[in-house]
Formats: sequence, C-alpha cells, structure tokens
Amino acid sequence: MSGCIFCRIVAGEIPARKIFEDEHVLAFHDIQPQAPVHILVIPKVHIPSMAELVAEHEAAMGRAMVVAGRLAREQGCADGFRAIVNTGRVGLQEVYHLHVHVLGGPDPLPPML
Ligand code: 5GP
Ligand code: ZN
Repeated sequence: MSGCIFCRIVAGEIPARKIFEDEHVLAFHDIQPQAPVHILVIPKVHIPSMAELVAEHEAAMGRAMVVAGRLAREQGCADGFRAIVNTGRVGLQEVYHLHVHVLGGPDPLPPML
C-alpha cells in the first residue's frame, strides 16, 4: 500500500522514532503524543482496520499485543496503561493501517468517554 503512511514507515520511506521491530510488527513513538508514553504498535502487513481482521492475521496481532504489553512496562508504565484500537468512522480512526495505541505514564490517565 504505497499511499499508506504507516506502510511507508515500515518501508523506511518516512522516518519514525522506532522502538522495536521484528518480522511481524513495528513499534514507534506517536508523532503527537497524548500522554507521557504514547507508542503505536502496528502489524507490518497492511490491514486497514480491526474490522478487516481475519484468521491469517492472528500471528501478527498476537505478537502486537505481547509487544505492546512488554514495551509499556519497559517505557515506564509499571502501574498500568491503556491500549486502544480506534476503528472506522465511528471509532474516530484517522490512519487506516491498523495500530494499537499504548498510552500511559507515571500518573493515572484522564477518564475516557
Ligand atoms: P488514529 O486516530 O488513526 O487511531 O490515530 C492515528 C495516530 O497516528 C495519531 O495519534 C497520530 O498522531 C499518529 N500519526 C499520524 N501520522 C504519523 C506519522 O507520520 N508518524 C507517527 N509517528 N505518528 C503518526
Ligand atoms: Zn499500511
């Protein structure tokens, strides 16, 4: 997906502050952090949103969740964090390459709606 900004980050065509990478996933800092820790974990394969997930994505998405939890601990979210997958128009998704937001920090986050 050449027009997809996150595919371009995976391909190294756009810079990002990468934290972790393996064969399935890439994790990097959000460009506009909404919390002291704001990481995005994405599958390397282009999946537009969580609504398009199928069984063949289980390995990548399982890895994404394991990596999200580990990086949260390593990046200073010892007392917890929030993992969010905005999906579609109603979910206020802006980038249509599936991503897990990991939000946290030393202090409790503001409540969600
Ligand atoms: P969404 O609303 O789709 O769940 O969130 C997309 C997120 O991607 C936003 O938090 C936004 O700041 C982040 N983002 C958009 N473009 C870029 C980019 O080029 N680099 C990085 N690191 N983050 C981006
Ligand atoms: Zn993509």
